[in-house]
Amino acid sequence: MQDLLALHDIFDEKKDIEHALNESAIVAITDNRGIIQFVNEKFCKISKYSRKELIGSSQSIVNSGYHDRSFFKEMWKMIGTGNIWRDTIKNKAKDGTFYWVDTTIVPFLNEKGKPYRYVSIRHDITELKEHEERVTQMAFYDPLTLLPNRNLLNKWLNSNSIKHNDLSILYVDVDRFKAINDTFGHGSGDMMLKEVASRLKSCLRSKDFIARHGGDEFLIFLNQITDKKEVEKIAFRILEKFREPFMLEEEQLFITASIGISTSNSVDPYDNDEQLIEELIRQADIAMYNVKRQGGNMYCFNTDDQNLKAKRFFTVDQEIKMALSTNQYSIVYQPIVHLKTNKMVGVEALLRWKNPKLGVVSPVEFIPLLEESGEIVPVGKWVLESVCRQMAAWHASGFLIGRASVNVSPIQFKEPDFVADVQNILEKTGLAPQHLELEITEGTILQVEKVEHSLNDLRNIGVNISIDDFGTGYSSLSYLKRLSAHTLKIDKSFIHDLNVSEEEIIINTIITMGKNLKYKVLAEGVETKEQLAYLKAHNCHEGQGYYWSKPVPPEEIKGIFKENEGRIKVIN
Ligand code: C2E
Ligand code: MG
Ligand code: MG
Repeated sequence: MQDLLALHDIFDEKKDIEHALNESAIVAITDNRGIIQFVNEKFCKISKYSRKELIGSSQSIVNSGYHDRSFFKEMWKMIGTGNIWRDTIKNKAKDGTFYWVDTTIVPFLNEKGKPYRYVSIRHDITELKEHEERVTQMAFYDPLTLLPNRNLLNKWLNSNSIKHNDLSILYVDVDRFKAINDTFGHGSGDMMLKEVASRLKSCLRSKDFIARHGGDEFLIFLNQITDKKEVEKIAFRILEKFREPFMLEEEQLFITASIGISTSNSVDPYDNDEQLIEELIRQADIAMYNVKRQGGNMYCFNTDDQNLKAKRFFTVDQEIKMALSTNQYSIVYQPIVHLKTNKMVGVEALLRWKNPKLGVVSPVEFIPLLEESGEIVPVGKWVLESVCRQMAAWHASGFLIGRASVNVSPIQFKEPDFVADVQNILEKTGLAPQHLELEITEGTILQVEKVEHSLNDLRNIGVNISIDDFGTGYSSLSYLKRLSAHTLKIDKSFIHDLNVSEEEIIINTIITMGKNLKYKVLAEGVETKEQLAYLKAHNCHEGQGYYWSKPVPPEEIKGIFKENEGRIKVIN
């Protein structure tokens, strides 16, 4: 009623009054300069100012600073020319809290058509707006780190201020984050990610952009920086930020990150911005992966060379999955020669992979992939069985070759059924165990628990064991003494550098030590007469290498023997 009386003084069109005083409306009336002449109770309540404070003040008393000048300029332009204006405004109450109002301003015009008064009618939509903000937060921000997600990233990329051909991307991945999660639990892992996010953010300028890409991966977009040195500075700053310890459950933790970088001037131009960005992200990802493979805690650019390598890696990784089931593997054999008698005492079986897309792929490249995926277990079994079958066939045909050496990966060796599998295969193929030799590396000895146990079992079956690539690992004399192995294969790198005096010392040492420990000593990679002469002079027992023959398919082994009869002979 009070409202009504106050209003009557300055305002008499009944219809409008009724509308203005409608239950939920927040009403203010100002003169044509925006000085408040009337407010209703609702206005006082929401703005937390008294009517006394409001009357005579400028309407801008409730401005929040949220809207820019052009917003109000536009509004004044509308109402100043006699038009009704409508929009949502964020206002600020006396106590500093904000509220949102859906606002309509109606100008009242004099006879000349000029506004002499404005009536603003507002409705409180704060709840709705807050809900909207929460929804936006969910749609565009990562709830954990509060960093933008991919959706907001796309929005940012599509904004006018971004030139796609003038930015760099940093693909950041926390090193060994899984171990942190596993050790401290996911809650602690989450806290760590929050801290990582805030450290990353602190390294960037306001025009850069950072988004959480998922898990422990972050994408950083450096706006208008493509110069390698400049990008490097920021990457370096990030790595430095990680050097400060992270606190987890009152423990200091040191974690590192891997950063892969691509710059838009280092890729071919694209017509389509989206494709360019996709390609940049892909290349930064590859570069990051390269850092990981080298142990992390570094940054790395997307050089072409790396890209080629990575492309090859992914193709090989894909193709190898089908190799066993589609018969792409074969086995070649390389003669092992007794140096004193010049007789072929055995062969080493070496796996070959020929792929329709990739051609022949070296085992040095694909064996680690098989090991990583565990696929080496079935493939290794296939090799073992094929070799034993081949040996049995040779023997049956009267070609009495002494032994076949088969390389065994530590992953195979770790299998609880490994010894049993060997025994089964021997039984199945009918090969006597003394004709089979298994080559294990120093890595196997160091990595496999209870290795001595398995070696003893194999020895009890009657299988021979040789230690491959000897001299390249970290073997200690003490285990050589304990192990049930028969042969030491001196790694070919030592033979290759035979005229280097240090290598000679090493070879002499290995030969002498091997002999004292009752090992047979075999030199791998013998290529020249001189190398052979040296090994013979130092009483090395056996040799293997291109000097005699490259690894060849099984059907050629007999032929080699015949061609070189003077030099290599089969021992019975
Ligand atoms: P490794 O067991 O040390 O085999 C010897 C490697 O030296 C073979 O390479 C052989 O071709 C090569 N070689 C032989 N004589 C000479 C020579 O005179 N000069 C030079 N420069 N090289 C020579 P390859 O066949 O490429 O095999 C590489 C490695 O892949 C093998 O090294 C072995 O560790 C692994 N590998 C091969 N087949 C298998 C397999 O069936 N199972 C497992 N687990 N590993 C295998
Ligand atoms: Mg070998
Ligand atoms: Mg070797």
